[in-house]
Amino acid sequence: MPEIKKLLIANRGEIALRIHRACHEMGIKTVAVHSTADTDAMHVRLADQAICIGPPAATGSYLNIANIISAAEISGADAIHPGYGFLSENAKFAEIVEAHGLIFVGPKPEHIRTMGDKVEAKRTAGALGLPLVPGSDGAITDVAEAKRLAAEIGYPVLIKAASGGGGRGMKVVPSEDQMETLMAQAGNEAKSAFGDATVYMEKYLGNPRHIEFQVFGDGNGNAIHLGERDCSLQRRHQKVLEEAPSPVITPEERERMGGIVAKAMADMGYRGAGTIEFLWENGEFYFIEMNTRLQVEHPVTEAITGLDLVREQIRIAEGHPLTLRQEDVVFRGHAIECRINAEDPRTFAPSPGLVKQYYAPGGMHVRVDSGLYAGYKVPPYYDSMIAKLIVYGTTRQGALRRLRRALEEFVIDGMKTTIPLHQALLDEPDFQEGDYTIKWLEEWLAKQA
Ligand code: ADP
Repeated sequence: MPEIKKLLIANRGEIALRIHRACHEMGIKTVAVHSTADTDAMHVRLADQAICIGPPAATGSYLNIANIISAAEISGADAIHPGYGFLSENAKFAEIVEAHGLIFVGPKPEHIRTMGDKVEAKRTAGALGLPLVPGSDGAITDVAEAKRLAAEIGYPVLIKAASGGGGRGMKVVPSEDQMETLMAQAGNEAKSAFGDATVYMEKYLGNPRHIEFQVFGDGNGNAIHLGERDCSLQRRHQKVLEEAPSPVITPEERERMGGIVAKAMADMGYRGAGTIEFLWENGEFYFIEMNTRLQVEHPVTEAITGLDLVREQIRIAEGHPLTLRQEDVVFRGHAIECRINAEDPRTFAPSPGLVKQYYAPGGMHVRVDSGLYAGYKVPPYYDSMIAKLIVYGTTRQGALRRLRRALEEFVIDGMKTTIPLHQALLDEPDFQEGDYTIKWLEEWLAKQA
């Protein structure tokens, strides 16, 4: 079995630190690769070795495959962990890593490719027995055909980009007369954002929840699920707060749906961590996509299962079997994660800058994943998420109380953050009762304005 001794972290920010921590707990040395804007980042300071791979713009650094591979060769790393975002779902990158005799800590390249094309992903998911959102069988190109199909499905429908991600390239079509314009717009947006104009159609679900299952496969036909996360609190299709378990999923439903997704992954021969995303409405699950990587919100699953997901990814990459059998997975308590962004909590305008003072909350069952420290300057070039606060409680009520206490303690001085937004959410009876859908947050924000 190939043992990983030195791992290159092809990412930045809190996730780079998260990976570094797992590695050091496993006795694995780390190599941080960073842009010129990230020389002072915490994970760069902590890593055993650091190599600058390019300028601030990600295309020249965090997306620069040649430089990352060179850094791996120069440093003698034997594995690369891509984190999330950047190159994490780039099948070509995974292939290149493996072609250089390095271990890619992630799924098989062919599975990344299949799931990265959402049309292919839906086809595969359907064939594996997952319930789908009603919609086009594949890509749609013809307006007349789109209108025929939409009439059959019923308006409103959603036009989505096959290569989409981060909620971009989606258009809700309310009625037939707008089909042509919106289809063209979606195609153009997809082309400029993803270099691929392919679009497909789905029924637009009116008021669903976003519920996703964490899965792990060993690549040899064995797979387990680690339960669900509820990520319905979203703004512009971007998650803001996540919790596990979902307040609306019963243990029986978890076992039933979890069993279906785990079997699908086993049948596929899936390797490593993955997330199967569903919309959930009126008690029914509808598959929307699969993410073939670690998710931002993975700590809530770690909190309720006790499993270190990054460690598990690394062990699987080394060729070990899954640590747990399905019957060994026990769900205990409740966990909530707040994504804290360097943004104005009302306008969401980015607010990067110097961290003048920093104090992270602590105490029992409180976890902060962040690379922030006093004196650190948040660079303006990247995602605005600067910290994740994760709390655990034996009950949801307890977790809510702990979250309130932890948010109170959190000090990030020098920039605007979304901490006040999370505090305001905690005061909302709907949130307290777990009674919310993917529409809830935007409607609530509109009322605050
Ligand atoms: P992306 O890859 O861009 O994140 P997803 O397919 O995962 O796209 O969808 C992101 C979000 O968009 C979902 O969490 C949900 O809020 C919304 N969405 C996606 N598909 C539908 C649909 N058919 N009906 C209603 N909302 C949808």
